[in-house]
Amino acid sequence: MALVVQKYGGTSVGDVERIKNVARRVIASQKKGNDVVVVVSAIGGETDRLLELAHETADSPDEREVDVLISTGEQVSIALLAMALKSMGQDAQSFLGFQIPILTDSAYGKARISHIDSEKILEALKTGKVVVVAGFQGIDGDNSITTLGRGGSDTTAVAIAAALNADVCEIYTDVDGVYTTDPNVCERARKLNRISYEEMMEMASLGAKVLQIRSVAFAMRYNVPIHVRSSFNDQMGTLVCMEDKDMEKVLVSGVTYNIGEAKLTVTQVPDRPGIAAKLFGALADENVMVDMIIQNVSREGYTDVTFTVLKTDTSKAFAAAKKVAAEIKAGDVIIDEDIAKVSIVGTGMRSHWGVASSMFSALAKENINIQMISTSEIRISCVIESKYTELAVRALHDAFQLEKEQLQEEI
Ligand code: ASP
Ligand code: MG
Repeated sequence: MALVVQKYGGTSVGDVERIKNVARRVIASQKKGNDVVVVVSAIGGETDRLLELAHETADSPDEREVDVLISTGEQVSIALLAMALKSMGQDAQSFLGFQIPILTDSAYGKARISHIDSEKILEALKTGKVVVVAGFQGIDGDNSITTLGRGGSDTTAVAIAAALNADVCEIYTDVDGVYTTDPNVCERARKLNRISYEEMMEMASLGAKVLQIRSVAFAMRYNVPIHVRSSFNDQMGTLVCMEDKDMEKVLVSGVTYNIGEAKLTVTQVPDRPGIAAKLFGALADENVMVDMIIQNVSREGYTDVTFTVLKTDTSKAFAAAKKVAAEIKAGDVIIDEDIAKVSIVGTGMRSHWGVASSMFSALAKENINIQMISTSEIRISCVIESKYTELAVRALHDAFQLEKEQLQEEI
């Protein structure tokens, strides 16, 4: 007998028929002898609809009230799921975040969970009930409702699994697992049986949208195995878990791409102490997140500084960089939005050499120019011209033979 936390996303509870389908799945797991806690998101599209309402009502709606509003989507879906379960003969009870309670800090719209009281959940499970919990929401020290950021139900599910010391956290979604790359770009993409927390963190931050990145960080910290799988079939999905000896043998696990960034270059920057601090300080003051940074070797006391930011921040970043450039008597600020970042991820990179050169030659073979490079211990990213994105992804997928199962793995 196991304790299982299941999470169903917006498309899995997209309409009444699907909610009934979820209820059947939950009952099937319960019938196998498991204790089941279900976390659900709002019906697909509902959170967006509520956010639109907020922005129609006020230009910059009050953050506390936005959370009161957008947390209601999940109230609807937990009630419907609990009703469906009961009508099928399975006792169930729904809980909103504050009823458990799921305590968070007061950062509206991106609150962090600080504590989950497991008592009420355990009590309900003891009486044979399925526990249905609203994802995405919590309550702060002042009894105000908070939300955890878009896609936050994943984090609710993992946090509850950690608090209950559950055997597994199953994340049901509309894809059947984590793929070596986007199957829409590369038809040879393959579903991974397993992936390490660290690789998943890199993949999620690089644009793979299967899991909210914070949920993976949480799972890694508390060692909660996550099983990502489809709510529309019974196949095994992808297990996100601790790295083991076998995973190390795989050089590259996945290829990702991101076309959401823009590149800015400040030319003719005087090369003296404090200049980078000033430039990036100005960007930080504007809440602009900077991803990659390159500073060229200086010639005759001047250098170029190039960095990437989210496209949505381009104009803010440009204005801030322009202002600093004038102050420090640098040259122009050049914007390039036609870029893409392609990356390869794999824990095996730690213990193997030659991975970077294989990546660069695969791109060279396709005549793709590399504009910027950055690396972490388990990732290499290249900025290229955006029109080559798909070609680059396919070339890298082929170069590292990701279509082939690299090892015999079993869940
Ligand atoms: N309903 C929320 C959202 O759309 C939370 C979630 O789906 O996980 O972001
Ligand atoms: Mg969602």
